[in-house]
Amino acid sequence: MIYLDNAATTRTDPRVLEEMLPYFSEYYGNPSAAYQFSQRIRHKVDACRDQVASCLGVSASEIYFTSGGSESDNWALSSAFEAGKEQGRDQILLSAIEHPAVYNTALALERQGADVQFLPVDKEGVVHPETLEKAVSSRTAIVSVMAANNEIGTLEPIGPLSRIAHEAGALFHTDAVQAFGHIPLLLEGTQVDLLSASGHKFGGPKGVGFLYIKEGLPLMALVHGGSQERNRRAGTENVPGIVGMAKAAQLAMVQMPARAEKERMLRDHLIGRVSALLPQVHLNGSYERRLPGNASLTFPGLSSETALIRLDMEGICASAGSACSTGALEPSRVLTAIGLSAQEASCTLRFSVSAQNTIEEIDHTASILIDMYQKFQHD
Ligand SMILES: *Cc1c(COP(=O)(O)O)cnc(C)c1O
Repeated sequence: MIYLDNAATTRTDPRVLEEMLPYFSEYYGNPSAAYQFSQRIRHKVDACRDQVASCLGVSASEIYFTSGGSESDNWALSSAFEAGKEQGRDQILLSAIEHPAVYNTALALERQGADVQFLPVDKEGVVHPETLEKAVSSRTAIVSVMAANNEIGTLEPIGPLSRIAHEAGALFHTDAVQAFGHIPLLLEGTQVDLLSASGHKFGGPKGVGFLYIKEGLPLMALVHGGSQERNRRAGTENVPGIVGMAKAAQLAMVQMPARAEKERMLRDHLIGRVSALLPQVHLNGSYERRLPGNASLTFPGLSSETALIRLDMEGICASAGSACSTGALEPSRVLTAIGLSAQEASCTLRFSVSAQNTIEEIDHTASILIDMYQKFQHD
């Protein structure tokens, strides 16, 4: 198998798994209990919180463990909207290319009275600061713009965007699920209030993530119950998951430059080989402002559904646009927002490499794509 769908999920790093295992079998105590057996587990959870916080340059008391990116996004938007309403702010501004976890949360809040407005992007998928300047007002409760897009890999200017949101008195959230652990993300110097991330997108386990909530924000809890996560997110901690995510974060920080360089090399090799022989194929998004592992390619005329079946027969895992919209009849919102026609959007494949892929795998994939497209053109 050749796995080129690392934006959908990543393999849990063996070192992460090794770190997690004792927290199922040996150290299974509930971190909230008072005896010593549980105290050492509580200390481990605290150390994990420190580890995650240090990756963002924030304090541990600003990190809240959740069940993943979707929960973090839901929590960020709904709590910021609630807080905004108390100040007469009922508007939510989000980029036109947000992940469904943000997009559908905003639509759910719209049914509860929110005024949801979308910020358009340019043809590379970038939200320009001037666009936000024009849209934001004293009615805006929250602005949500992702750090990196999951379909086309575009990196957004979250520093400038967060400052503009703050000048208007609005909160700023960023869905950093694709960015965290892949590109440097220090929050110092930004005005980011809320940031979502998810363990399984950077070599950690599935079902665990976190939400960064800036100190002092009066945001409501999403899950009510016990006093875990400083009364803001009830439920016995997913200790093995938290341990695994923190280990994955630590590995990601140490290895980021080398991993990113390898990913960029593999990605560029794929793009280079395919476009050298198939000049009709085009890369979506920005080349410069791009996640190191993402190649979103449109093969005009060749339906991505057909292409994915052929790739699957060859043991190659890739995706059409985003995994979340696979099977949906609607063309990708993201691809149409950057100006692709519905037809072009339906002929788009997303390859997302990891540093564990090899150049041979990429070469093989490129050969299959070239062969497939040349045959298709002759039919
Ligand atoms: C995967 C993803 C999510 C959802 O994260 P889960 O942990 O799978 O719930 C949210 N946003 C983006 C950008 C993603 O890529």
